[in-house]
Amino acid sequence: MGFLVIIFTITLTSVLYYQFEYSFTTQDSILDAHENYYYSQMVSNWGSPPDTNHVLKEIENLHMWCGIFRKDKDASGGTQPGERYWSNLPNDIIVKEVIFNSSSIYFEELHEIEIPLLVYYAETKRNFMPVTIVDNGEYLFYIVIDYIPPSEINNLIFAFILSILFIVGLYFFIHRYLKPVQLMKNRIEALEAGDLKSKIEIIGEDELADLSYSMNQLIMDINILLENKHQLLLEVSHELRSPLARMQLLIAMMPEHKNLTKLKEEVEFLEGMIGNLLFSDRLSLPYSKLDLQKFSTQDIIGKVMDMFPTNRDRVKIDNNIPDKQVYIDETKFSLALRNLLDNAFKYSKPQDNADIKLTIVKNDGIEFQVKDSGIGISKADINKITQPFFQANQTVSTKGFGLGLTICKKIIESHKGRLSISSEPEEGSLFILHLPKI
Ligand code: ADP
Repeated sequence: MGFLVIIFTITLTSVLYYQFEYSFTTQDSILDAHENYYYSQMVSNWGSPPDTNHVLKEIENLHMWCGIFRKDKDASGGTQPGERYWSNLPNDIIVKEVIFNSSSIYFEELHEIEIPLLVYYAETKRNFMPVTIVDNGEYLFYIVIDYIPPSEINNLIFAFILSILFIVGLYFFIHRYLKPVQLMKNRIEALEAGDLKSKIEIIGEDELADLSYSMNQLIMDINILLENKHQLLLEVSHELRSPLARMQLLIAMMPEHKNLTKLKEEVEFLEGMIGNLLFSDRLSLPYSKLDLQKFSTQDIIGKVMDMFPTNRDRVKIDNNIPDKQVYIDETKFSLALRNLLDNAFKYSKPQDNADIKLTIVKNDGIEFQVKDSGIGISKADINKITQPFFQANQTVSTKGFGLGLTICKKIIESHKGRLSISSEPEEGSLFILHLPKI
C-alpha cells in the first residue's frame, strides 16, 4: 500500500515538475544556463583553433542552434570558416556591453571557472539574436545562439498522455484501495435489506482491513442483540397473553356490570398493545415473511370489526366490492386496518355516531379508506406520524406508543402497497391502505 502511494507521489511530482519546467522556464534563464555552460566548455578547450565542434554538439543537445564565428583580429576584414556552422559573419551585430573580462572575479567565482578573456554581449540588428563575442587577444569569437524553444504542442501532447496515464493509474489505484470501502457499502446495503448473516471479505492487512473486520464483528454483535431482544419479547408477550386470555374468558362469563365495558376495553387495549409490540419487532426482522392467501373484502371487514365490540356502532361501512378477492396476509393486514380504526376512535370525540367511515373501493387496486372527523393532524406532523414512537397530539390524553402507524405502513408496504394520509386539523383525517392490482 505504502509502496503504491510512493510510486504515485513520485509520478505526480514528475508530471508537475515537467509541466512547470516547460511552462515557466523562460528563454532567458535557459540561455543564461547554457551560456554559462559553453563559456566554460570553450574556455577549458581553448586552443588555437578551439574545438568548436565539441561545443556545438553540446549546445545542440540542449535544443539550441549555435553558430560560432571566428575572426582574425589582425586580418583586415573577412571571416574564416569554423569547423561546422560556418557562414559569413552577420555584419549587423551590435555590441551592447562587456559582460566580463578576465578581472571579473564575481563571474569566475560564481561559475568556478577562470576566464582569461574579454566577453561582450551583443545582439543581431535584425532579429535580436543574442551574440556573445569572446576576445582572446588573437581572435574574436562570435557565438550566436538561436534558441529553439521546444514545441508547445509536443509538450502539450506529452503532458496530456502523461496525465491520462496518471489518471488511469490513479483510477486503478483508488479502485484497488477503495475496494474494501465498496464492500463495506454493499454490506451496509445488504444489512438494510435485512441480511444479518453474511460477512465482508477482508482484503489486505491495512487500516481498511481492520475496519472491515470490526464491521463484521459489530454486525455479529447486533445480530446476537436482536435475536436476544426478539426472544425476550416473544417470551414476555407469551407470559402476558396467557393471563389476558384468561381475563377475557372471565369477563365473558361475568354478569352485567356498569364497569364491564370499560374493563373489556382495557383488556382489548392491552391485547392490542402487545400485538403491536410483537409485530413491530417481527416486521423489522429480515426473515418475516407474508403468508399470502385469498380473502374477500367482506371477510376482512367482518374480522376487523369483531375486534371492536364496543365501538363498532361508530363505524359506517361502505363496502363497494364485497366479493372482491384480495391476496393478503390475513393477520397482518387485519392488524393494519385495526390500527387505523383504533386511531380513528382515539382521535375523534366518542359521542359522534357513525362518525367514522370505512370505505372499500376499487381504484387501480383495492383501497381500504378510514375517514374520521376528529382532531386531525397538522401539516408539520403528517410526514412524521409513521415514524416509530412519534406521537403528534401530546395534549390529547390517549393511550399508545406511537407504533400503530409504523406497523401499518410496514405491513402495507410488505404487501407492495402504500399508506396515504391526508388530514385537516380540527376537521378530520383520511387514511388509505392501498393494495396493488394483482
Ligand atoms: P399512537 O396512536 O399509539 O400514538 P400511531 O402510530 O398510531 O401511535 O399514531 C401516531 C400519531 O399520529 C398519534 O400519536 C397521533 O398524534 C397521530 N394520529 C394517528 N391517527 C390519527 C387520527 N386518525 N387523527 C388524528 N391524529 C392521528
